[in-house]
Amino acid sequence: PSSNAYGYPLLIKHLLTRSNIASACQEIVSGTEMRLSYADLGKRVRQLANSLKVSGIRECMRVGVMDWDTHRYLECFFAVPMMGATLFTINVRLSPAQVLYTINHGQPDLIIVHRDFMPLIDDIKSGFNRDIIIVSIGDGEGYEEWISEAPGCFDFPDFDENQTATLFYTTGTTGNPKGVSYSHRQLVLHTLGLIAGFGAWPGNAGFHRGDVYMPLTPLFHVHGWGFPYAATMLGLRQVYPGRYDPDTILRLIADENVTFSHCVPTVLSMVLDHPGCPQIDLDRWKVIIGGAALPRGLQDRAAAAGISLHAAYGMSETCPFLTVADLSSNDPEMQAQTGFPGPLVDLRVVTPDMQDVPHDGETTGEVVARAPWLTQGYLDNAQASDELWDGGYLHTGDVGYIRENGSLQITDRLKDVIKTGGEWISSLALENIASSCGGVEDVAAIGLPHAKWGERPVLVAQAAKDADPDLVRLRVMEEIQSRVDAGEISKWAVPDELIFVDRLPKTSVGKLDKKLVRQDISTRSDL
Ligand code: ADP
Repeated sequence: PSSNAYGYPLLIKHLLTRSNIASACQEIVSGTEMRLSYADLGKRVRQLANSLKVSGIRECMRVGVMDWDTHRYLECFFAVPMMGATLFTINVRLSPAQVLYTINHGQPDLIIVHRDFMPLIDDIKSGFNRDIIIVSIGDGEGYEEWISEAPGCFDFPDFDENQTATLFYTTGTTGNPKGVSYSHRQLVLHTLGLIAGFGAWPGNAGFHRGDVYMPLTPLFHVHGWGFPYAATMLGLRQVYPGRYDPDTILRLIADENVTFSHCVPTVLSMVLDHPGCPQIDLDRWKVIIGGAALPRGLQDRAAAAGISLHAAYGMSETCPFLTVADLSSNDPEMQAQTGFPGPLVDLRVVTPDMQDVPHDGETTGEVVARAPWLTQGYLDNAQASDELWDGGYLHTGDVGYIRENGSLQITDRLKDVIKTGGEWISSLALENIASSCGGVEDVAAIGLPHAKWGERPVLVAQAAKDADPDLVRLRVMEEIQSRVDAGEISKWAVPDELIFVDRLPKTSVGKLDKKLVRQDISTRSDL
């Protein structure tokens, strides 16, 4: 153990120490039914730990969770690692075969399963490669009985801060999902990093004690980007939406005065598209968009609804916080920038031989980083781990440039870059232009193989309801041409085609799945 007379291991239990006292009466709201105080949260975390112990869970064992985004999940975020066990947040939106793969690879000893996911478990359990205790729970029943009988005291031990606290799997858009884990120390430092990186802005900008927090990134995905830990440590009023139904989300924002959320673009789009949206006052709602670039079209719609929107950047392997846009700015250009490295983040843009590119706002290279909270490697996958950390920095696989003022811009993913006639075209820049033209609901820029040029850019778009695709195509192509004329993008970037499809494929966390877009388009016989 690392604790000695001076040692104070950075353990997740310490994130609760202060808020349980300073915010004892503050409320945590879950769905439209459940309300707890922080004092209740503390007691319920201890009860959950006792229930897990009775079920046989000990230090270093793994506890899986398959639940909606509820107070129960928040309780697991604390109780499981605080006992010294590992919290395995299972991505319930992967295909059944992939869920089975992650369970067999991640080796949980027990899984807490909401009854909505029991059919999935029943489907795959004959393929389990070990005995797993299944605790079936529901909204209000099952879980409540399970923990309510348990004593409200539990002596959470001190142990080595480098002990594993959490485990989850990447979304696996390329091959099988890979296991990523974080230690107590990493999660504590990441929590402080989030609080400093999102909190140290003037006025009401950013994330602070006055906010009412509601996550809109699934809690199974990179711990809901770590904000539930930060919100709890700050003792904020918190709201957990359950499943992501736009009607409930809008009702909770209005009734509970939610002021701070984070999500991928698709989730915000879904909220803005809801017919009830115009009736709700969203003037006080600050939203962080991450997981994908912030499209200009979405930004304009959000601004019209009164929402304050900013971009942030990170990935499963980085816990996820790497950068955040200037949260005090209300200039749309600044708000959409990938942003400034967070505290303690050593971020570089480099050439293939790891030389820094000039910070001139145009020279691109791969984004690599170090920070105290980046994953040390993939579970049982030495080769992928070595590639991830080649040269002592974590390779993000993203392409970008740094401006003179130090702000990062992601222009693409290495694997999505379009290379035409020896030139690199930014797919994100093309998508951004197209999405700013009215009538485009969703758009992907991809490279299609071309005999002469290697690859040529093509836009694949979903038209907005009631929009005339021919008119939209004309408008987008005109806009792209005008950006070429203005010298903003090269003439090679003008797409050969704009193809309309009914729906663009998305990953399990609602991001554009470009691999599938490329597959779908290249197998279409009519093209
Ligand atoms: P997956 O890799 O399966 O999509 P992640 O959630 O880890 O899962 O995705 C991280 C990736 O999302 C980053 O590597 C980057 O390509 C993209 N991304 C995240 N934030 C941004 C952003 N602000 N701008 C552009 N791309 C982003």
